[in-house]
Amino acid sequence: MQNLRKAGGENCKIALLLDLADARRNLPAMTLYIDTGAIGANYRALAARSGGARTAAVVKANGYGLGIDVAGPALCAAGAEDFFVALASEAAALRRAIGQGPRIFVLSGHMEGAELGDAIPMVNSPEQFFRDRAIRHGKKFGIQLDTGMNRLGMEPAEWAAIRAEALAEKPELVMSHLACADEPDHPMNPRQLRAFREMTDGIDAPRSLAATGGILLGPDYHFDLTRPGIGLYGGRPFEEASPVVRLSLPVIQTRDLTEGETAGYSNTWTAPRRCKIATVAAGYADGIHRSLSSDGQRARISLYAGAVPCPIVGRVSMDLITADVSDLAEIPAALDLICPAQGIDAVADAAGTIGYEVLTNLGARYRREII
Ligand SMILES: *Cc1c(COP(=O)(O)O)cnc(C)c1O
Repeated sequence: MQNLRKAGGENCKIALLLDLADARRNLPAMTLYIDTGAIGANYRALAARSGGARTAAVVKANGYGLGIDVAGPALCAAGAEDFFVALASEAAALRRAIGQGPRIFVLSGHMEGAELGDAIPMVNSPEQFFRDRAIRHGKKFGIQLDTGMNRLGMEPAEWAAIRAEALAEKPELVMSHLACADEPDHPMNPRQLRAFREMTDGIDAPRSLAATGGILLGPDYHFDLTRPGIGLYGGRPFEEASPVVRLSLPVIQTRDLTEGETAGYSNTWTAPRRCKIATVAAGYADGIHRSLSSDGQRARISLYAGAVPCPIVGRVSMDLITADVSDLAEIPAALDLICPAQGIDAVADAAGTIGYEVLTNLGARYRREII
């Protein structure tokens, strides 16, 4: 390393990169702390809010980014016996994580060529229904109906055409999904409820309409099974959720700036006075949205040293973030982006997105530590 540095020029850059790699090895890794007890508590709280309905757990997208091998077993331990994933490949990973027993439903249904194993496809078109029955005759399946979201599921006319034949095959579940359940007063909610009732009242098969938002709309929306996802992981609209994640980012350098010096790409932020800047090793490649960069001099969000906010200043870059730590008496080894003082929804609001995207963007470079 010293020799490289002496050689100067391009080699000096390489030496600096090696320094960064060294720093990554020696310092606490960027760590995502996952509180599986909180996942279990959120499951039980949402099950209690579901009245007499069974409560499934939605673990698509690798358990909302937290790891299907982490979320799956935690939810089993809390009592979940039904799971939903988006894809057949996720069903296989979930089965490995939770073992035999619980039912696994696949929301994308029976896609051509998919290896479903013992997972239960939620068939969402007459074409899928007929393909599924031709190939998987006698095996479990469910039906997904479209009550107005216009995304997945059979439309009323399609359903009417195959309804008798489909119900004769004894589906495990008939479900639909609400488009606006996070807005309790939205007229779309009662409209979809009415459509779902019109399409399913009187059938023998168990019914499901509510995800997290739908559970909170009340008993009319619960039917036989509810399907919470985001609420399990501590996100809105389940405001009473216990926080599940803490995201801790190692400080790899600090430096003192004098008034007028700039920090980061494109000089977007200028030190208004003498201050101390900490550089943490994480960036947009780790799912920390670049839109969290300061808006010129105005920080959109902070990293936290315990309860003390340290505003993110300048641009979020691929692997690095700079924060103003002038208010800290002592620089800690790591600063938190997601923590009790600043949950996933606060980060989402600052980034112009939703908690779901904050969680599912969390990158592969984090060390995941279970607490
Ligand atoms: C993602 C999803 C859920 C879970 O939704 P949350 O808002 O995360 O609770 C339930 N049902 C379907 C069809 C979904 O796509």
